[in-house]
Amino acid sequence: LSDKLESAFKNLKGEARITDLNIATTVKEIRRALLDADVNYKIAKEFTDKVKDKALGEKVINSINPGQLMVKIVKDELAELMGGTEATFSLAGNPTVILIAGLQGSGKTTFSGKLALYLKSKKNKSPLLVAADVYRPAAIDQLHVLGSQIGVDVYSDRESKDPVAIAEAAIKEARAKNKNVVIIDTAGRLAVDEVMMTEVKNIKETVNPQEILFVVDSMTGQDAVNTAKAFNDRLDFTGVVLTKLDGDTRGGAALTIKYTVDKPIKFASSGEKMDTLDVFYPERMAQRILGMGDITSLVEKAQEQFNEEEAKKLEKKIRQNKFDFQDFYDQLQQIKKMGNLKDLMAMIPGVGKAMKDIDISDDAFKGVEAMISSMTPQERADPDLINQSRKLRIAKGSGKDLNEVNAFMKQFEQMRQMMKQMNKMPMGMGRGMMGG
Ligand code: GDP
Ligand code: MG
Repeated sequence: LSDKLESAFKNLKGEARITDLNIATTVKEIRRALLDADVNYKIAKEFTDKVKDKALGEKVINSINPGQLMVKIVKDELAELMGGTEATFSLAGNPTVILIAGLQGSGKTTFSGKLALYLKSKKNKSPLLVAADVYRPAAIDQLHVLGSQIGVDVYSDRESKDPVAIAEAAIKEARAKNKNVVIIDTAGRLAVDEVMMTEVKNIKETVNPQEILFVVDSMTGQDAVNTAKAFNDRLDFTGVVLTKLDGDTRGGAALTIKYTVDKPIKFASSGEKMDTLDVFYPERMAQRILGMGDITSLVEKAQEQFNEEEAKKLEKKIRQNKFDFQDFYDQLQQIKKMGNLKDLMAMIPGVGKAMKDIDISDDAFKGVEAMISSMTPQERADPDLINQSRKLRIAKGSGKDLNEVNAFMKQFEQMRQMMKQMNKMPMGMGRGMMGG
């Protein structure tokens, strides 16, 4: 996708102003790009028509060329469509009741756990998770496992076959135990059907939730239109949760759903780990659909974790070619704090697709950590100090063999060389956007 867009925008590069003529190809390419991202055809057409009108009316300011202007118009327009501003999330009611609905496998149970953790750790709430899937005992177990993992109580009743009664009993229990948020995880089916719809609707009418969240797999593509519409017609949900954004989908479903049901997308979920839940940012999604990579959220995630002063110190060390094992070790710890390594890498433009088949487990660095831990502080600060006998000692201390230590030393040296090379590059290289 991004290749196509890039060529579309390149068409405009160097043109002094946007005219009917030079915009035609670009509009066509953008439309094709959206279709590639699994945006519904009708929506892609309406969208590009709108962008075309906007672009033609726009005066080309001296400082930016038509290509950049188009990127901006397309991106702003996309972001506007998907929400304009950040969606709000209601925590009114005592307790606040949140109903989770969606097809089987869309990620409801996983999201329920993530939302509970988010409310507990970021909003200072005391949530209760409710297992209202009465068809699959495994679903109840799954929620209990998640609950104990994140330290949140789970209400379930394995004897009951009545999800409405379960939900009501859970709310009573929440009041008795001073829980202020109740998250009801419901059963899903593989396709939209009457039984499922009636069941969720009954729960809704009985418990009066503040929020009804429709969970949808961002990989669903075109099917998302019909599913979202069916759920919205019955439930009139308050918001959408997009899951599995860690996959290589460009997220066209986000645009399609927003366009079809006009409900805000409130959360974005990108990974199986409990801490990979984000508030939905239309701006970032627009960038992603356009293939620009989710740079903004990567930067933000990093900023949350990295102390700015530390970062400056590190930058200075890298500039002076003084990056050492201790720095490397500290960086690893920071990266681990930021969440799943694969999720993080996937946010880097151009990397997401390439990463699809590569398995990076969070344990990948265990051996490296062990080796660094076996070094003396002097060795960590001065990699050149490490001679053969020291290598042997490090191997022994870390339970690795000499080959592994050698391989790591070599990799580390290569990394330092790379940093050296980077230091020689002029500022701002490689940062240009889409060649525009
Ligand atoms: P439910 O049937 O709607 O409750 O769906 P589950 O929560 O059980 O999720 C179905 C599968 O998708 C499970 O294997 C989850 O681990 C996985 N899953 C859920 N959310 C995500 C996500 O954001 N990213 C990825 N990669 N997998 C997810
Ligand atoms: Mg489930």
